[in-house]
Amino acid sequence: MTSALNDIATSIRTIPDYPKPGVQFRDITTLLGNARAFRRTIDELVQPWAGAKVDQVAGIEARGFIIGGAVAHQLSAGFVPIRKKGKLPFDTVSMSYALEYGTDEMEMHVDAVGKGDRVILVDDLIATGGTAEGAVKLLRQRGAIVEAACFIIDLPELGGAAKLRALDVPVRTLVTFE
Ligand code: AMP
Repeated sequence: MTSALNDIATSIRTIPDYPKPGVQFRDITTLLGNARAFRRTIDELVQPWAGAKVDQVAGIEARGFIIGGAVAHQLSAGFVPIRKKGKLPFDTVSMSYALEYGTDEMEMHVDAVGKGDRVILVDDLIATGGTAEGAVKLLRQRGAIVEAACFIIDLPELGGAAKLRALDVPVRTLVTFE
């Protein structure tokens, strides 16, 4: 592991049994509060697209907004929020997505992306991939091209990154936790 990736990995705090017993919650607030680790995270995430034409970065509520905003700035791209149902003020399109138990709905403004827009999807962590899969479907439903999805953290045992790759979405992750 490079020193940058090591810096990123060690700045993430793990909270055992949050929000419920058995879950190891990967808390990125400690990374965000560490100026060097935060900068390195954004630099590493955007590295494959330096100089590429990216129209929009789509961030998934809520931690994907923080990472995605910084990524959009770095790539000189726009930012699109993908939110939980009922939060966006204008006309929306929605998509249901799988949770551990049951389903939920996410929404995006109907005019947020245009047909043929090149979009990079961003969130802090990919676990089962249910959330990111819903976001990919929502973006594609509006005609966007999902160039890639990037996450700081991958939990590979839960299969989310593999699920996205099976949908032909290239996936970039920086740090892996078993
Ligand atoms: P999934 O849809 O299963 O890939 O879950 C991904 C979403 O849930 C992301 O928005 C994460 O922020 C959140 N999440 C899932 N598991 C964890 C975890 N162990 N620690 C922190 N966030 C998590």
